[in-house]
Amino acid sequence: MRTVIYPGSFDPLTNGHLDVIQRAASLFDRVIVAVAQNEGKQPLFTLEERREHVTEVTRELSNVEADIFEGLLVDYAVRRGACAVVRGLRAVSDFEFEFQLALMNRKLNSSVETIFMMPRDTYTFLSSRLVKEIARLGGDVTPFVPPRICAALKEKLKC
Ligand code: ADP
Repeated sequence: MRTVIYPGSFDPLTNGHLDVIQRAASLFDRVIVAVAQNEGKQPLFTLEERREHVTEVTRELSNVEADIFEGLLVDYAVRRGACAVVRGLRAVSDFEFEFQLALMNRKLNSSVETIFMMPRDTYTFLSSRLVKEIARLGGDVTPFVPPRICAALKEKLKC
């Protein structure tokens, strides 16, 4: 049983995240999408809301589950019996931070491997931050997020 963790803020989950989840689900027996509190970011959705979004949007994918995690990612990965962590790479701009993170995690626990996945090229410009900004300004985000997230954004931003 090969388990992989896909950690992130997912504030909110976008079609880019979903693309990475689907790719990971076809390679691993189990994918745990782990929603984390990012200290550097003021989230729009609570951890519980974000976990619920992941659960609802991935309902059709039987080997995907959602969870919330705190503390060190490598410790969480070991606790959940995962052999790897998956992260998404959109562009060179993601690379430096992701590379540093992966090597630091390897330093902390060399048994947890990091795997990078590239989304469909049409999602490489997509970020949760931009989606929130567009929604706040009254723009149409339907091409960028699953319908459930679109509804959640409308409800949260009252737009
Ligand atoms: P974090 O705050 O940990 O960066 P995010 O939710 O922003 O959390 O992203 C989680 C992971 O998904 C990161 O590895 C990020 O690079 C990746 N990611 C974000 N948006 C996309 C996208 N459009 N396509 C592919 N990967 C993405």
